[in-house]
Amino acid sequence: MQRFATGTDAALELRPDHPLYCFRPEVLKQDARQFMALFPGDTAYAVKTNGEPMVLKTLVEAGVKIFDVASPGEFEAVRAASKTAEMLYMHPVKAQSDIRLALEKYGIRVMSLDHEDEIAKVLRIVRALDLDPGSISIFVRLQTKGHAMYELSKKFGAAPGHAVELVQRLDRIGFKVGLCFHVGSQVEEAESYELALKSADWVRNRAGVALVGLDVGGGFPAVYGHNPNRKVKPMPPLEDLMGELRSNITEWAFDDMPLVAEPGRVVVARAFSLIVRVLLRKGKRLYINDGIWASLSDSWTGKITLPARFIPDPARRIRKGKAENVVPFKVCGATCDSVDILSRPFWLPETVDTGDWIEIGHIGAYSLSLRTRFNGFYPDDFVEVTTPFGGEGAPDGFASLETMAD
Ligand SMILES: *Cc1c(COP(=O)(O)O)cnc(C)c1O
Repeated sequence: MQRFATGTDAALELRPDHPLYCFRPEVLKQDARQFMALFPGDTAYAVKTNGEPMVLKTLVEAGVKIFDVASPGEFEAVRAASKTAEMLYMHPVKAQSDIRLALEKYGIRVMSLDHEDEIAKVLRIVRALDLDPGSISIFVRLQTKGHAMYELSKKFGAAPGHAVELVQRLDRIGFKVGLCFHVGSQVEEAESYELALKSADWVRNRAGVALVGLDVGGGFPAVYGHNPNRKVKPMPPLEDLMGELRSNITEWAFDDMPLVAEPGRVVVARAFSLIVRVLLRKGKRLYINDGIWASLSDSWTGKITLPARFIPDPARRIRKGKAENVVPFKVCGATCDSVDILSRPFWLPETVDTGDWIEIGHIGAYSLSLRTRFNGFYPDDFVEVTTPFGGEGAPDGFASLETMAD
């Protein structure tokens, strides 16, 4: 992989016409190590956030030994990055053939579920393979309520009373039993975790079964950009959120059992930026070479504010407007689909024009992992960059913010 000091250097030297991902392995290592230092338990990286081989390999180098996986593709990706890494199969609803693969081929011994029919599925495979249920830990996924930016608990999780029954049933069969939850993504306050801990405590007390662990899921917030024109409450630093989580864990007396977290976004967001090119400027519209079917899948990026850097093409000699005026542009994606228009504008210097580049920072999470081949576009070019995105100075603009009408 070619190496550059900054994204700007990469853009000016390569003049990329296709989207270019700038990977920052040192930033990835730093953020992974910071999380591991702050969380009072094991860290299992959530592979779905960004499962690129370069990411998994770098995390292994940083000392990550456990990975949260959900599918055969993820089992294989982790195994390719490390022969010894442990995998937690934390998808509550699994195909029976995948359960077999996990247990038989990959030696996975930790899973989650939220329904008795799933217990039956797992048990069928355990019996068929003649495994001892006591060698397998099953985490009952609890329903949670909170204020995550991306609420994910609607889909999975057993209500507390139901969870008690599941815990007792698993214990009677002879499985080791734990509890888990996942409060959402980009959770910027500790209260969501506290509510979930409270619920886990309730289930533990009613179930009367010795638990082997608690998995607090992911959701830890990444640092993104902000609109300087708006007064928004700045996100508290991760240290503060983790401090609160640690004291809540003690308060609810979970500090005496093995803990695990499944961070995704907070570990990988800063490790990538994306350089896109303006293929055409038409008034206040920018047609770029990426979009919702590639790295800017709106369901994930639409609610967050990504920092952006304007990289003007030096070949353009004449420009309209003033570089210090930062204005909103409607952004149209690369495909022919009219849905492929970002729901929120990019705010950029008004001088931006056809042929210029925009480097979008902190885009390592849920971006390239959601790429599709729709319409024949599939960005897949990478360079390594040594300077953190913010290391070049304050961003010139920001992407994906409030609607144009605001
Ligand atoms: C997606 C997911 C994660 C990672 O979430 P982040 O918000 O990226 O930290 C962790 N655990 C489970 C079960 C998930 O589905």
